[in-house]
Amino acid sequence: MSDGACVEARVVERGVNVPQSYRLVRRDSRAERTIVRLSNGATFGGDEIAICAGPCGVESAEQLELAAAGVAAAGANVLRGGAYKPRTSPYSFQGLGEEGLKMLRDSGDRHGLGVVTEVLDPRDVEKVAIYADMLQIGTRNMQNFPLLREVGASRVPVLLKRGLSATVQEWLLAAEYVLLGGNENVVLCERGVRSFDPATRNLLDIAVVPLLEEMTHLPVIVDPSHAMGIARLVPPIAVASIAAGAHGLLIEVHPDPANALSDGAQSLDCEQFALLMRRLALVAEFAGRRMPQRVKPSAGGANGQRKAEGAVRSSKSGVRLA
Ligand code: PEP
Ligand code: MN
Repeated sequence: MSDGACVEARVVERGVNVPQSYRLVRRDSRAERTIVRLSNGATFGGDEIAICAGPCGVESAEQLELAAAGVAAAGANVLRGGAYKPRTSPYSFQGLGEEGLKMLRDSGDRHGLGVVTEVLDPRDVEKVAIYADMLQIGTRNMQNFPLLREVGASRVPVLLKRGLSATVQEWLLAAEYVLLGGNENVVLCERGVRSFDPATRNLLDIAVVPLLEEMTHLPVIVDPSHAMGIARLVPPIAVASIAAGAHGLLIEVHPDPANALSDGAQSLDCEQFALLMRRLALVAEFAGRRMPQRVKPSAGGANGQRKAEGAVRSSKSGVRLA
């Protein structure tokens, strides 16, 4: 063996070299892995995976309710849907704003689902936290530092998507901002990066799932919908993500994808999603993980106190167990 090969072997043996600049997110900064828990019982980071599903955008109460009923019946435990949409064109559907947030909370409670939704503006963090269980930082905002600081101060669980062309280091340092602000409830979400090849919407970097497992104690989930951009390619990549060790998935589901106001081409309908969930149950077992436990909505909604508690409740939500 040449000297070069010896050096390489030693590096591999020691695992990935993680710079000291990630003080709080690095794997060896704590003994246990982080488990992020939502108030409906959904967990990210433990043996049980989290399945977040729903439309790209909240379009109407009826559309959202159909989606929520469909994904809950199939076994998802978190409802996704954008009330504030980051659209490339200012002329595209921008979301329903606070009306959409209310619809998310109502449908989420009706079906015992946690709610994750994107916050675009630091000034909206407190308002979105009144309705949502988890704040999504979208790919276009991964390095919006004022926004990262604001969600860091909120204590509500954060879903931090990888930036359009962010390196793993930049992504982890974005998470570091949130932890430094005092919020340890961060889940990373791989959703594909820009590449030279337009054959799929983005290029899914599935390698980060086992890589981040070594580098950080934070949970990692995969969004195959925005990675592929083509609905029929979503199920096999969702299955592969769980097989690779992802702690959950974010999947776009619309009751009528052909008429969706955004991202219809990559959205599954409720039937396709139910079929995918059956395939996922098989692969989860193989990967040593459990599918989400069914949560029964309580009378008056699983989160009846939420609106009254508002931002104060936020500071108590999302417990780091481990
Ligand atoms: C979304 O989840 O609908 C979204 C806009 O995602 P991303 O930030 O990954 O593009
Ligand atoms: Mn979308």
